[in-house]
Amino acid sequence: MRADLHVHSTFSDGTTTPVRNAELAAAAGLEAVALTDHDTTSGWAESATACAAYGLEFVPGIELSTELDGRSVHLLGYWVDPAHERLSTECARLRDARMRRARRMIERLSALGIELSMATVEAYAQGAPIGRPHVAASLVAAGVVPDAQAAFDRYLGEDGPAYVVKHAADPVDGVGLLVAAGGAAVLAHPGSTWGEHPRGLSGTVGSVSDARRDRGLDLLDRLAAAGLAGVEVEHPAHDLATTLRWRRAAARRGLLVTGASDFHGEGRDVKIGERTTSTWVLAALRERAADGASARGGAGW
Ligand code: AMP
Ligand code: MN
Ligand code: MN
Ligand code: MN
Repeated sequence: MRADLHVHSTFSDGTTTPVRNAELAAAAGLEAVALTDHDTTSGWAESATACAAYGLEFVPGIELSTELDGRSVHLLGYWVDPAHERLSTECARLRDARMRRARRMIERLSALGIELSMATVEAYAQGAPIGRPHVAASLVAAGVVPDAQAAFDRYLGEDGPAYVVKHAADPVDGVGLLVAAGGAAVLAHPGSTWGEHPRGLSGTVGSVSDARRDRGLDLLDRLAAAGLAGVEVEHPAHDLATTLRWRRAAARRGLLVTGASDFHGEGRDVKIGERTTSTWVLAALRERAADGASARGGAGW
């Protein structure tokens, strides 16, 4: 009885439709599958219908972009109210910020002698919030790089010459927003922000500095105080040491532990259902979302 709680679609920077995701999730033997597109809930209706057709439970979610010290911190919010005013305003703001940032990345590329048009990048996004993968796809199509990974490695990665930071809310405020919108909030792939990816960080060779790791744990304390329900401990980008470290950090704070694939489409290494969450944990998460809702309504215990 397993659930994949972190899945993207063509409604953000994934390359598969929610319908295809449901088909793949059913084939992988999952019982439940989420849709967690970046800064949008637009794919929910399509996903709910497709999941029902395959006998899967649909978990409506969002991967909200936040920022700390110039680094991305991603928050997963499940069962949020998509019509919640502050949340939808924040998502609209993030989509605008993504558009402006894509233009700036195109300018950076132009300064490097690589000409991409905004129209091409927008064609890849097809109305979805524009992400670096859409710029990467445009670079591949233009023959600048052989594949998307090379686009990130050479130009678009956080240390790359065409990278532009995406300004977003503080993660503590992000958790508050997801909880206010009736959701259960989970810290996504903490290892990608504080784990074993020391590329470009001076003073860290082969492992992350203690100071940096402490910053991650300090944030986890603050997120837990703001109402965080869980930590995405099992993730394809986490190695064993990272997984164990965050599992311990979550347990010490009484947080739920989830696992998910962060699926972005076929033709990549990661398959849907490659990391999963037990449906017991899923039930506990749902209870957290419901508790928040009843606390706001003054009902409950
Ligand atoms: P953005 O939200 O525009 O900053 O883009 C972040 C997205 O780019 C992530 O959600 C992944 O889909 C993708 N991504 C980030 N880093 C890499 C990488 N090193 N290689 C391939 N894709 C990446
Ligand atoms: Mn993505
Ligand atoms: Mn993410
Ligand atoms: Mn993701």
